[in-house]
Amino acid sequence: MNDYRDLFPKFNLGTYLDYAATAPVFLSVLDAMREYELGGRGNPRRGLHAYAERGTEALENARATVAKFIGADPSRTIFTKSATEGLNLAIASFTRDLGPGDVVVHTVFDHNSAYLPLKRASDERGFKLVEIGRDDVMRGNFCGRRGLNPVLAIIPHVSNVTGDVLPIREICERAHEVGARVIVDGAQAVAHMSVDMVELGADAYAFSAHKMYGPMGIGAVAFSAEAFRVVEPLIVGGGMVEPGIAMLEAGTPNVTGAVGFARACEELSRIGFASIQEHEGEMMRMLGERLASSPWAVSHSDPERSRRGRVRPSPVKVGSFALAQDGDWNRASSLVSFSVPGIHPHDVAQVLADQGVAVRAGHHCAPHISRLLDPAGVVRVSIGLPTTTNDVEHFFRALGEVKKLHKSLI
Ligand code: PMP
Repeated sequence: MNDYRDLFPKFNLGTYLDYAATAPVFLSVLDAMREYELGGRGNPRRGLHAYAERGTEALENARATVAKFIGADPSRTIFTKSATEGLNLAIASFTRDLGPGDVVVHTVFDHNSAYLPLKRASDERGFKLVEIGRDDVMRGNFCGRRGLNPVLAIIPHVSNVTGDVLPIREICERAHEVGARVIVDGAQAVAHMSVDMVELGADAYAFSAHKMYGPMGIGAVAFSAEAFRVVEPLIVGGGMVEPGIAMLEAGTPNVTGAVGFARACEELSRIGFASIQEHEGEMMRMLGERLASSPWAVSHSDPERSRRGRVRPSPVKVGSFALAQDGDWNRASSLVSFSVPGIHPHDVAQVLADQGVAVRAGHHCAPHISRLLDPAGVVRVSIGLPTTTNDVEHFFRALGEVKKLHKSLI
């Protein structure tokens, strides 16, 4: 088994299993940002001196690297502060001209960073929102029911609650057949699988650097050529006089962040997603199988169950977690959610935290799917490159304490 921990700062606060919230930074990202700053910073796109030119060059080189990482065109790749901002930009641009009579589909998986801007636009402009359920989405049936004729679809690439990897290519194909654009929220995908937005057919693809071992405070959204024509700035300000992407990045850009973001892309490409998936697959198999064999914990990420659409928790064992056996859609999953019937998810997370294991509990900003799985929310264990079998062992030892609590309750 590969050990990637040397690429990261030391884990001084215990076992970290909350990568889906944010991931630690590559040490080489810190080096790249420091090197850029030490070499002399200038405000890009303004000024003719060497410092400004260095800033422009660093920003544009970073853009080229980040765009290439997801198979996008740099001239249509916008730096944002996060996936949230990228989704807001795409949603505002694609819904500007919609009104009553138009239909936009979104999924039960949606994170609030996709759902809330969509809901606000719908409240303002009067277009109809239709939510597509887990089973229909996983079958690539983005319309859910016949005759919807949507003009736009918003979907996550990977659910931050169940770990489901959505069939983006099929969904985009079907959307384009009826003339609809597709916005893909790639926040949970980019650290775990190789992405090519042209191959996927996405019209907009948004993601954040901090979930892929880059710095916080920077993300990107990339657009297809057709969709880019309708993109308009979310905010206005300095630096907008030049046409093109500068128009969409008003104000002083986060050059240092962009440099770090690009280095994170380079590092992930250097390691390669085949190695990453092999490593993470091993951890997930261990996590999934052992969780599924705990009769008192209910896994919500079992592919067989999700395919059958039975998503309500039951106190029975749900069968083995078969990552590699169920086709490709669930392969790159890097997280698993579960409930312990009778114990609130926050209490489970607190017991785990007391044992030095960091997981997340609640609705994970994706209340539609999490309420469906368990009205109280779910406990999510998410892994990343530095995760080792020791971390997984520690998690199960800590979960033993929850088991004791469970026994005392029933
Ligand atoms: N979408 C999904 C699926 C996410 O998990 C997250 C982060 N929790 C986001 C979007 C938002 O990312 P950010 O907070 O970096 O903008």
